[in-house]
Amino acid sequence: MDPTNTTLVELRDAIAQKRATATQVVRAYLDRIEKHNAHLHAFHEVYTDRALDCAKQVDDGSITGALAGVPIAIKDNLCTTWGRTTCSSRMLENFRAPYNATVVTRLEDAGAIIVGKTNLDEFAMGSSTEHSAFGATRNPWDTARVPGGSSGGSAAAVAADLCAGAFGSDTGGSIRQPAALCGVVGFKPTYGRVSRWGLVAFASSLDQIGPFGRTVEDIALLLQVIAGADPLDSTCADEPVSNYLNELSAPADNLRIGLPRQYLSDANDPAVNDAVDQAVDVYRSHGAQVVDVDLPHTEYGIPTYYIVAPAEASSNLARYDGMHYGHRAQHADDLVDLYSRSRAEGFGDEVKRRIMLGTYALSSGYYDAYYLHALKVRRLIKQDFDHAFERCDAILCPTTTGPAFAIGDKTDDPLAMYANDVYTVNGNLAGIPGVSLPAGQTTADDGTHRLPVAIQLYGPVFAEARLLQIAKLYQSVTDHHLGRPELET
Ligand code: GLN
Repeated sequence: MDPTNTTLVELRDAIAQKRATATQVVRAYLDRIEKHNAHLHAFHEVYTDRALDCAKQVDDGSITGALAGVPIAIKDNLCTTWGRTTCSSRMLENFRAPYNATVVTRLEDAGAIIVGKTNLDEFAMGSSTEHSAFGATRNPWDTARVPGGSSGGSAAAVAADLCAGAFGSDTGGSIRQPAALCGVVGFKPTYGRVSRWGLVAFASSLDQIGPFGRTVEDIALLLQVIAGADPLDSTCADEPVSNYLNELSAPADNLRIGLPRQYLSDANDPAVNDAVDQAVDVYRSHGAQVVDVDLPHTEYGIPTYYIVAPAEASSNLARYDGMHYGHRAQHADDLVDLYSRSRAEGFGDEVKRRIMLGTYALSSGYYDAYYLHALKVRRLIKQDFDHAFERCDAILCPTTTGPAFAIGDKTDDPLAMYANDVYTVNGNLAGIPGVSLPAGQTTADDGTHRLPVAIQLYGPVFAEARLLQIAKLYQSVTDHHLGRPELET
């Protein structure tokens, strides 16, 4: 068995049944990282010695658990007591966290081996990883293109088989959109399903942590390890966590799939709309009833999100003052000058743009017109989904309007970059779970490379088990998730 050409669940079983040692597995992935990371720049830091040491402990039986020996990558906005937690920002370039994120603790308690931290847009603000202060990640399918973002490093790492699974955060699409552009599965759980303790905050009413994998089984296993109440995060819900992996064997019968016409625009790349059409056929041929659903406030998603998220970000990022931790300017005249210089030097342009947008929307005289208004529209968007789920079990739609775009294409046009999130932000505004699944390929406009396209499924809050069953049905009769990029070296 080639441990780097399998699924996470198969790998886990192979290690548990001693068909492979954790050391062999971890070494195989570390070798691949060594070979490909310089070109792809998926990882910021790789923990070679620590990972091999943990692998040894799995092999001698002192580390056990549901993920024993499985190499996992985490986005570099999740705190770990070892290594640095940079958020791809100069502000946190040398930051060493004093505690582990709950997700990290749960992964390690389950025996997972964290091989490294992955690149992201600075503070998770972006859709391409180009806003990283340490350079962009490249899409393994075509290295002239972006992997999506903000969790682009995690998506690229899974797509290039540099790890068996990975984690990201999704505030407006940052797991699902890069998963779509890199041809892997990405899952955003219900708001409150997973603890955010130790996730560096971007927009606290939207942020969720979730997994990347090759298959729905991989996602189910990763989700059940990290989900569930946490005394360290009061926003994490005390809802029961089921064994999502076992529940996948339940048949997805009596299925009603909702199709929102607002998501099937002619402006989408034709390959994206074809992928949705083909998914409709798949579900119909397995007995599902396909119904039209109406999400009339869809078009207000982007403007609403780009008020709410920057408003919350402007507040969350106020803590980076150069005093407590993070970058501190060398020469300042007084305290206010120190704050101002430290922030001017530490933050990149996109982060500054968000802070200014958010501060403006919250300021006296504009609060009612922008922020309060956005909250009201957010409620309407949520109600759209509530009504739709009275008529269906899952909503089927695209994840993105098209395949990966070229590096540099949108960096000078923030609005074009924001428009990437048109099919993902509403899921965060409504707090519902969503999953992106590989659903085919299209040829790049320059005709040189095949690029992945994806479908997205949304489900009602805390209906993760059912949503995964519905996603599994699609993967059990299609082979789009088996495609792998040919890597340049
Ligand atoms: N692309 C969106 C943004 O720039 C979403 C980011 C995210 O989900 N973290 O805000």
